[in-house]
Amino acid sequence: LNRRDFLKISSLFLAGSAAISSQVGQALSSTNTAFAKDDREEVVHSFCEHCFWRCGIAAHVRNGKIYKITGSEHHPLSNGKLCPRGTGGIGQIYDPDRLAHPIIRERKGGKSSLRKASWDEAITYTAEKLYQIKEKYGPEAIAMLHHGYGYTFFKEMFKAFGVNKFAKPSYDFCCGPRLQGYTMTYGHGTGTPEGIDMMNSKYLLFFGTHYGENMHNTAVQEISEGIRRGLKIVVFDPRFSTLAGKAEKWLPIKPGTDIAMMQALMNVLISEELYDKKFVAENTVGFDELWAEIQHMTPEKAATITDIPADEIREIARTFASYAPAAAVHPGRRTQWYADGTQRVRAIAILNALTGNYKMPGGVVKYEKFKLPKPEAHPHPHFKKDVWSKYPFFVQTKPENSITSHEVVQQTLEKEVRAWFVYGVNVPETITLGRKTAIEAMQKLDFMVAVDTLPMEVTGYADIVLPECTYLERYDDLDGGRPYRTPFVSLRQPVVEPMFDSKPGNEIARMMAEKLELHGVFEDSVETYLDKRLNKVGSSLEEVKKTGVLVGEPTNLYRKPGEKLTFKTPSGKIELASAQLKSAGFDAVPKYIKHPEPPQGYYRILTGRKPMLTFGRTANNRFLNELPTARENEIWVNPRIAQKHALSHGEYVHLKNQAGIVSEFPIKVKVTERIREDSVYMVHGYGHYYKKLKWAYKKGASHNQLISKADIDQSTGAVGFQNNFVTFIKEA
Ligand code: SF4
Repeated sequence: LNRRDFLKISSLFLAGSAAISSQVGQALSSTNTAFAKDDREEVVHSFCEHCFWRCGIAAHVRNGKIYKITGSEHHPLSNGKLCPRGTGGIGQIYDPDRLAHPIIRERKGGKSSLRKASWDEAITYTAEKLYQIKEKYGPEAIAMLHHGYGYTFFKEMFKAFGVNKFAKPSYDFCCGPRLQGYTMTYGHGTGTPEGIDMMNSKYLLFFGTHYGENMHNTAVQEISEGIRRGLKIVVFDPRFSTLAGKAEKWLPIKPGTDIAMMQALMNVLISEELYDKKFVAENTVGFDELWAEIQHMTPEKAATITDIPADEIREIARTFASYAPAAAVHPGRRTQWYADGTQRVRAIAILNALTGNYKMPGGVVKYEKFKLPKPEAHPHPHFKKDVWSKYPFFVQTKPENSITSHEVVQQTLEKEVRAWFVYGVNVPETITLGRKTAIEAMQKLDFMVAVDTLPMEVTGYADIVLPECTYLERYDDLDGGRPYRTPFVSLRQPVVEPMFDSKPGNEIARMMAEKLELHGVFEDSVETYLDKRLNKVGSSLEEVKKTGVLVGEPTNLYRKPGEKLTFKTPSGKIELASAQLKSAGFDAVPKYIKHPEPPQGYYRILTGRKPMLTFGRTANNRFLNELPTARENEIWVNPRIAQKHALSHGEYVHLKNQAGIVSEFPIKVKVTERIREDSVYMVHGYGHYYKKLKWAYKKGASHNQLISKADIDQSTGAVGFQNNFVTFIKEA
């Protein structure tokens, strides 16, 4: 038996329905009738953990049990509302499948098994193993993979220990290229929420952004408000998405041709002199290089590449210009589809720049952060390197990262990395380099720790599983890094005490620091730490606990007449052509590159989200899974392709990718005109193979299992997966 084979975590280590019932009683019925009329309601304000947006929540408690979660009216990002996932937090805290005890993997006679451990034993073992690996191979042999907001205390502990190799998978396919593409052009990122003044915009172009399916609460509220005020939307997407349903125009663009389309739109703006000449002359560099690159991309030429008629392209460019500067192209999220994601984001930024919409109502805006001083610097060792990524334009993003997650996987396969500390990342089902490669990497590790709330697939490969309590049972660090039109600092605070033998991340990190004899890393208590940080801005923990948020002065979003703009780029201007990219051997101006076509009988896999499913956090949430549209994954197939393969609407098929990998579980066919003939669409995050995840197990196919090919952006190290194709295998 391989020493890192997947081990099923027995029910003995999980909370169990009986334990949940005894602790929670009738609260799971989620109705007020479970309580006596005179039970006093308490409302605790905190912030959500079900996606990176981090909206403010109001948790309603009676008899020590949370029975409802609503949107905080005090918090600028929620504005009194939450998306479905945010309201479903009770399904996470009261999940009978929750990890209830620390677990240790034991090896005897070539066989592995799991057993319950005390916290002291688990932490001692973890500290000893990490210490040994650091002594033997150096600190660079240890990597932390993280997702979510509770990782920050572990990061401090690791830095004090001398380890600073941190990776967050979302850098690779989403935030990395988006941040760097925008920063290379404007000198700053687009942020979360994205700096587009959607509620005051008149005309917005979207390239594949799935608002309404991707439930980014504030953005969905702003776009709805924009539509109410007369905003018109154009959506370029091979699939008729929920957002396309709200659009004036849906253009079923051929996948992989966005840059050609953006070049054609620029071509019309410039050749018909519809761009903002004054703004471009005063605030940009590289106009001639841009024109030299895009002049050949006429609408007629782009039509042959994108499948969108030339007249349509021309009309959109003209309408876009007519509404400018109250018009914009949205930067989107999940921006890395092929190897050219950074350039694709640059093309979006350049299109915006040509309209002169920078810091104008309805255009591109730059939100401000709350000015919260950084935490006190702790006695960190002097690091040999701060960044471990080999990619020249890798960018450190917040939360912390110093390497791409696919480089961690590759370095593990090469035995450079020997130990993983995994916080909230379900590695086999997370987009890194696909499930197969992720498992091969885990099997090479000398030591692996997983900190999680649920027995996700990743915990089955770990040597130590540390059960963290949920976001509703703990303090985390302050969230002060989020720029918005009203800057704010949010507090995550415990709504109820930690259940079972789980602990908050801040306490686990403190225990590890003590075992490793790292003194002075943490304050006496997490409350003292938070209070001291808040004292620096004239507030206190006591004060912020009341509403969960400290709100600053509104950002001054718009430029004043005659205001001279400056940009933190090497030239001090918006860079239509980037000298830094050019000198590093990359294209100064975004170029259209043709991507591979699907083999005969295969179709490009496009992916997205469902409003009630995000990452691993909500996969097993019983309340969200009870919503009819969450129940299963489907593969969208065009009717003519369905006919060609003799597929019927509602039948189940297996998917086989171009490398011969067949989906473990079947998936239901949805025959629909809402998808192009060359593509199929499925939601990422289904097809869990771990039976302990009762609600998520065996639900349709796993997208991650079907990834065999990764296209790496050589500038930022971001990874695209849309050159993976599937065909159908009918059930016998
Ligand atoms: Fe939670 Fe939804 Fe807000 Fe994300 S968008 S933080 S899941 S309420």
